[in-house]
Amino acid sequence: MIPKPPPRDGALGFLYLPPFRVQGYSVAGEATTINIPEMDVCFDMGFSPRSALAAKFCAISHGHMDHIGGLAYWCSQRNFQGMGPGTLVCDARIESDVRGMMTGFQNLERQKTPYELIALEHEQEIQLKNNIMLRAFHTEHTAPSMGYVIVEKRTKLKEHLQGLPQEKLREMKMRGEDIVNHLEVPLLAYTGDTLPGAHLLRDDVRKAQVIVSECTFFEPDHTERAKIGMHMHVNDLVEWLKVAECEHMVIVHISRRTHLGQARKQLNQLAGKELASKVHFLMDHRTNRARYDEQAEEARLLEEELSNRD
Ligand SMILES: [Zn+2]
Ligand SMILES: [Zn+2]
Repeated sequence: MIPKPPPRDGALGFLYLPPFRVQGYSVAGEATTINIPEMDVCFDMGFSPRSALAAKFCAISHGHMDHIGGLAYWCSQRNFQGMGPGTLVCDARIESDVRGMMTGFQNLERQKTPYELIALEHEQEIQLKNNIMLRAFHTEHTAPSMGYVIVEKRTKLKEHLQGLPQEKLREMKMRGEDIVNHLEVPLLAYTGDTLPGAHLLRDDVRKAQVIVSECTFFEPDHTERAKIGMHMHVNDLVEWLKVAECEHMVIVHISRRTHLGQARKQLNQLAGKELASKVHFLMDHRTNRARYDEQAEEARLLEEELSNRD
C-alpha cells in the first residue's frame, strides 16, 4: 500500500444569486473569505484565494485569525501581480492592530507592501462604486466586530412632478428646489461572527436582498457553546428567518464537524420547507453545483428561444 494523497481541501464555494456571485471559502475557526465580484469587495480574508485578488476592497469583520490570516498576503499578492494597493476596511477599534500587523510583515520582508486602510465607526459608510455604499455596523462577538451592508442609493422624481417637461424640472433644480425623493435599497448584508441581537433586525440588514450570515452550530445540544463563543446557533437562525425579508440567505462559518445534509434536515424541520428554501450553505458544493447547472440550462433554453424568434 502506498500512502493516500491529502484530501482535496480548499475548493471554493460558489452561488449565483442574480445579480451577485457569492464565492469563497468558509469553515468556522479555519478560514472565511467571501468575495462578491460584482461589488468589487471581499468580506474577510482568512486566506487569500487567487480569485479574490481582483477585488479592490477587503472589509474585515473582526481580528480573529480565521478572518484575517490572509490579509497581509492578499495585499502583497495584489501588489506582486501589479494590481495596485488593496483597500482594507476595518472597525476603527482595531485600526492600530491591523496597522501593527502590516508593519510586522513589512519589517520581516524588508520591503513595503502598499495598502490603503479605511477605519469605520458604527454607521459610517464609504463608496464602493457610483451610487453604491458600504455601511458598517457593530455586532457582538468575543472581539470588537462589525457587519457590513451594501446599499444602493437611488433618487426618484417626486410623484407630483412626474410628467413635467425636462426643461421645467431643470429650472426648478437650478432654483434649488428638491425635486427628487431619496431612497436606499439594501443589496447585500454580511454579518461576520456574531451573537444574534438588535443588529440583525436593522432595516438595512433585515431587508437586504441577500444576507450572508454565519451560523456556526447546528447540533441541538450546542446552544451553550454558541453563546460562549458568541456565535449563531440554528435556533437563532430560524427566529431571524421569520422576520428577514431577504430573497436569499447564504450561511457561512459552519463548523467542520457539522454534516451539511444533517444541518439541512434540521433547518427544514425547524423553519419549515418554505422558509428554509431561501437558505443556501456556501460550502455545500454538490447542492450548489446542481443548482448552478439548472440555472445554466434555463439560461441556455431562454437563449435558444430568443434566437428562434428572430
Ligand atoms: Zn470565525
Ligand atoms: Zn470570530
